Amino acid sequence: MIKKVAATIALILVVSLSIAGCTVSPSTTRETPIVHLHSSWVQKSYVYEGGIHFHSTNSDGANTSEQMSAAYRAEGFNFTVLTDHQVVTSNYTPAPSILAISGGEITTCEHGNNCTFPGQVHIIAVGITQPIGEKSGSTVSQNTQVVINNIMNQGGLAALAHPALLGYIYTNPLGLQNYTFVETQNYTIPRMNLTALTNAQAWQYYDDILTGGKQVWALRDDDAHGTTLVNRSATMVNADHLTNADILANLKEGNYYVAAGFGSTGTRDMARISSIATNNDTITIKVPQKSTIQWIKSGGVIAKTTANVTTDFYIAQGNEGYVRIVVSRSDNLVAQAWSQPIFVTL
Ligand SMILES: [Zn+2]
Ligand SMILES: [Zn+2]
Repeated sequence: MIKKVAATIALILVVSLSIAGCTVSPSTTRETPIVHLHSSWVQKSYVYEGGIHFHSTNSDGANTSEQMSAAYRAEGFNFTVLTDHQVVTSNYTPAPSILAISGGEITTCEHGNNCTFPGQVHIIAVGITQPIGEKSGSTVSQNTQVVINNIMNQGGLAALAHPALLGYIYTNPLGLQNYTFVETQNYTIPRMNLTALTNAQAWQYYDDILTGGKQVWALRDDDAHGTTLVNRSATMVNADHLTNADILANLKEGNYYVAAGFGSTGTRDMARISSIATNNDTITIKVPQKSTIQWIKSGGVIAKTTANVTTDFYIAQGNEGYVRIVVSRSDNLVAQAWSQPIFVTL
């Protein structure tokens, strides 16, 4: 009897110890390396919809800054970053309830003093208050870096503008420092029939930068030069307050996603992301409408595709480098949303 009780106790002990072993001290029994996920998504009180990179009559736009602001407000945007060429347009009255963050688009040249096509590049400056004129100099990328540093010294954030536009491709994006974004897609360029990389090539350019070790965020902008071209792209920022400081801080950290439509005539019908969460080695995304979810890793390789779901997950192996998510709505595959890269380390 005593033996039987002792055996039972021993069995219970073994079972409880093995359960405890799984839950309390996995490091002693785990054979696979632990994967670390570095996600920039932090849920906040609100999601603010922003329009970054567009023009007014203060440079080559067709409408005034007031008209452009009103057009974005009418489409439900919460903030804008007006980016006229070489100047900072700030002396205007934005539409009611819209936050107008100042900015600019600066032309510089990568190849010596000859600041003409090709070799001319454009840099989007988000949050600068002082204009930065066209820059030219003597060494490859030197001028670009000077402009980016100027933006940073003003507390602003720099984006490599439309590298998909042929002739405006940054030749050494891995050598440049201190920029925050790459404008992976720009609505206006294909609409104007400008000679551009295909979407796939433009994405490959961005994936090459990420694969090269840069931690920079993707943007997709209207580059609207008139009120009829607004709201083809939206920058959806997680933030607690609709203020310059809070929007810029969350943009800098990559705490936003991109919503886009790619319709041939320019659809305003975009996809949305509800949440992105990480838990140990697993990334989970939730979207409001049934969508195809693509998980893309280092090199631009598609690691997983799931069709027609509102939630999906990905288990990282540790060798991905990064994982970014592309959401394409099932009812309209050109209505997309893109996550920022989630960096994976062991
Ligand atoms: Zn430009
Ligand atoms: Zn522009």
